[in-house]
Amino acid sequence: MKKYDVIVIGSGCGLIVTEAAAMAGNKTALVEMDKMGGTCLNVGCIPSKMLIYPADVIYEIENSSRLGINASLSNVDFAGILERTSRTIEGYRNKLHRQLHRMHGVDLYESRARFIDEHTLDVDGQRITAPLIFIACGTRPVLPQAELSGKPGIITNDNLLNLTSLPAEILIVGGGYVACEYGHFFAAMGSKVTMLEMTGQLLSGEEPEVSQLVEKTLRSKINVQTNTILKTVNEAHSGWNISTENTQDNSSKSFFSSHVLFAMGRIPNTDILGSREIGIDHDDKGYIRVNDYLQTNIEGIYAIGDVNGQYMFRHAANYEAELAWHNGLHSRAGFAHLTAVDYLAMPHAVFTRPQVASVGMTEARARKEHDIGTGIVSYFETAKGEAMQEKEGFAKAVVDKSNGNVLGFHIAGPNAAILIQEVVNAMSGKGGTDTVKRGIHIHPSISELVPLTISSAK
Ligand SMILES: Cc1cc2nc3c(=O)[nH]c(=O)nc-3n(C[C@H](O)[C@H](O)[C@H](O)COP(=O)(O)OP(=O)(O)OC[C@H]3O[C@@H](n4cnc5c(N)ncnc54)[C@H](O)[C@@H]3O)c2cc1C
Repeated sequence: MKKYDVIVIGSGCGLIVTEAAAMAGNKTALVEMDKMGGTCLNVGCIPSKMLIYPADVIYEIENSSRLGINASLSNVDFAGILERTSRTIEGYRNKLHRQLHRMHGVDLYESRARFIDEHTLDVDGQRITAPLIFIACGTRPVLPQAELSGKPGIITNDNLLNLTSLPAEILIVGGGYVACEYGHFFAAMGSKVTMLEMTGQLLSGEEPEVSQLVEKTLRSKINVQTNTILKTVNEAHSGWNISTENTQDNSSKSFFSSHVLFAMGRIPNTDILGSREIGIDHDDKGYIRVNDYLQTNIEGIYAIGDVNGQYMFRHAANYEAELAWHNGLHSRAGFAHLTAVDYLAMPHAVFTRPQVASVGMTEARARKEHDIGTGIVSYFETAKGEAMQEKEGFAKAVVDKSNGNVLGFHIAGPNAAILIQEVVNAMSGKGGTDTVKRGIHIHPSISELVPLTISSAK
């Protein structure tokens, strides 16, 4: 049995804990069964955004006639774009390996970890133990049938970069953010795209005006089938036969596609880890339950990132990793002052068409708990928005009338992910709407959209 001070399972946000533990002089084990860097680096945020940026450029070229520019696209090097993405990610991954090798006191186990008891793990036949364990084992994509995995034309975010040529057609199962991002990507590249979504709306968790604009925009290039559930997926000559059922009128439809991208949700990797078997509390979907300090029900075991099922974004995972390390260190030292999570100003973005960013509550939720004012302002109402001829994009503010605090802010349009940051900062600094209104905004820039929207909330 090898004894450590700290064991970390998973090298996504787990790397943050590993580094902090090693720097504080702890003998640390990092266990990673797949590629160094986890989902975000290898098959999530980074590759998808490296692919989507060229798609955004294509979209701009194709939609530039509104500015009096008649441009046409002559060639898109799909294989080259994918190859550049893979090469860049490999470079990042190698850098992480080099950084890890330079850290003192860290043993890397490139293998699968499985719990034997509360503080012991089996790693490739070896036993390792530590009083402090951080579970950061993440999630994986769901397939409707496990045996589809590895079949030709069956794609998830995990193997998408293995494509060597642009699929002429692709059917995407799902209507959440991964589906909407890759729908935009493949449509811009030139594939014929069909999307199946079981609810009545793409991005159904977003503010309704936002998801409606995204759906309207995507429908201009994509065959979007909402209220549609997947029934069967059968292998056919050079592709897949897919049958569906409409949840409203029970009608059936059939589709054929050479490629099918499954983006219908994710499942936590806790089954592989055996965490339930040793008594760690899980919800019925397999996510690990944690308290406000990111502690599981077993002393000394923390669960951070996607595996606790709270906010499944990389910036949320990073935030939790830092906080859990702080709490782990303090509780080990017997100090009482642990820090609770504060998700009030947790933002997210969806890099589809148009770009979406959001923080805080939707209007519907805020209305249940507060006396609210709302305001919507179009990009076009700012001088820069007019220069861009941006007639569809808008921002929406949800404000607490009693104290002027921002409860929610939602944007659909160019640079939404950048614009939202000002509101995030105001919300996390508990500064309320005045912080945004008092700041001087550069004229003419689309940053003027944010104070205008907040001021319009009635
Ligand atoms: C297509 C896509 C696009 C995304 N885009 C964005 C985005 O733009 N912005 C954003 O904020 N988020 C995005 N996300 C979400 C983001 O990737 C995740 O929230 C984040 O990566 C979660 O980090 P994590 O550390 O919790 O888990 P992961 O990064 O998934 O790391 C878990 C690691 O644990 C390893 N592991 C699992 N089980 C074991 C075991 N038993 N033993 C050893 N190792 C194990 C896995 O191999 C993996 O490397 C995207 C996700 C996808 C799928």
